[in-house]
Amino acid sequence: MGEIVLPDLYPHQEDLRDRTRTALGKLQRVILCAQTGMGKTRTAKWILGATANRTPRENQSGRSLFTVHRRGLVDNASQSFSEEPALPHGVIMSGRETHYGRRVQVASIDTLLNWFVESGEYPSDITFDLIIWDEAHSHHSKFARFLKYHDAKREALGQPPAYVIGLTATPQAAGLADVYREIVLGPSTEWLIANKFLAPFRYFRATQGKLGLLVKKGDEFTKESAALAMDGLAGDLVRDWKKYADGRPTLGFFTRRSQAQDALLKLTEAGLRVEYVDGETADDERIRIFRALNEHRIDYLCNVQVVERGTDIPRIGCVQLCVAIGSLPRYRQCVGRGARVHPEKTDCCILDHGGNVQRHGFFEDDPQWTLDIRAKDPGEQGTRPTIECPCCQAIYRGGKCRSCGYEPTPKERRGQGLEFDGSELREAKREEKTEKPARSAEDLLISALYMSGKSGRTWKQCCGIFRGLCEKQNTPTMRVPASFIVGGHRYRVPRYGSDDAARKVCAIFPFTLGARHGGKYEVSDTQTEVQW
Ligand SMILES: [Zn+2]
Repeated sequence: MGEIVLPDLYPHQEDLRDRTRTALGKLQRVILCAQTGMGKTRTAKWILGATANRTPRENQSGRSLFTVHRRGLVDNASQSFSEEPALPHGVIMSGRETHYGRRVQVASIDTLLNWFVESGEYPSDITFDLIIWDEAHSHHSKFARFLKYHDAKREALGQPPAYVIGLTATPQAAGLADVYREIVLGPSTEWLIANKFLAPFRYFRATQGKLGLLVKKGDEFTKESAALAMDGLAGDLVRDWKKYADGRPTLGFFTRRSQAQDALLKLTEAGLRVEYVDGETADDERIRIFRALNEHRIDYLCNVQVVERGTDIPRIGCVQLCVAIGSLPRYRQCVGRGARVHPEKTDCCILDHGGNVQRHGFFEDDPQWTLDIRAKDPGEQGTRPTIECPCCQAIYRGGKCRSCGYEPTPKERRGQGLEFDGSELREAKREEKTEKPARSAEDLLISALYMSGKSGRTWKQCCGIFRGLCEKQNTPTMRVPASFIVGGHRYRVPRYGSDDAARKVCAIFPFTLGARHGGKYEVSDTQTEVQW
């Protein structure tokens, strides 16, 4: 077989390739951390081609593997490997003819586990000297399982363990440190933007959901609390989109289907061409819709957990976050969908309804990723002070607004707890920064109800928690409100001295445990809203 012709690489790709090779030689398993748009797949293609051009040693199989976590991504990879200069490869996937004789194989992790791992054994003699695992932050445990059996088999065959390169823009996931020994960092996001490999971003704080309702669990917010926080926003998000992003092909993220459907309806009424995808959308339909957005034949794509990673739609000019995202990698994956450059766009704007930009910082601020599990969460180190433009609500850093050119007065800066010394924003005073506007009695009561509902407390105890929350924010004279609204449903509270004071909150307000709305305290005249 003739020599495989390798693709041309940019200098920054060559540099990353060389540093990866050095690290791999020393440490065997490394993460190549590179942003979307860096050309990871092209760099991987070079590495696989060069490996296949070498004569394998006696104790090597001579094969390399490129593996992904979804069937659709097998086709994507196979397609880019087939582009000129073509990299001959086999595909390991049901319904396809196998070509195990080829030196490079492409497979999805599910197929590998199904075909090669059988009740704790790896019966096949087909092993790989080099494995490249794409989007290494997701489905890590599947990959770790495959690798364990694979390398055990290699040992039995007298072969050394495989070299492993995990590709990802967000190297953070449970168990990564058990497999990988170093993160090789690609060029910074700021550099990629400055050199036009990625689009610049502008950030806007749009109408916020009820963020006080968010309940953190692990890295994420609980599903119920994240959904409740974003309930009833459909009208606002259309208005905000018209204000900040009119004319931009937009990708909207939603927490649940009903919210995406509400938005779809409102956006359509406003005259936009809108489509919707979720996990159940058929593959070919999804590809058709992505293409339509990329060609700006539709204006807006609503999605629920589909477009978060590995989707390539360069034309996206606005990402609307109608979600509150707890996890830093997930935030960066979502925002990153708008990072690709396209001749028709100058930048991408982020409309944030979920406090995400404040929580996780700008996309161009790379977190300090680490495999050291004792280290701080990279998100905590990554966020630098930002200011919201008093004129146009853009969130930016520094002197003049990047969006409208307005320069906030020193007083307006201090109003946001910030000072500007001509180059860098600083927090004016730590105390000032932490001074948040007081939450309403209604808001505090809802928090107290959720806490009480989850911990099995009574209505009387809930009132105690409410008073505690009031004292904590320095509004001790606040009273329990007579009624409150949650997710569009109005409830009244038990009367003073009622027998229900001693009953459990979860029994009288079942929504606090994630059940449907209702119960004797729901005020029925607002019960017209559709339940999903
Ligand atoms: Zn502005």
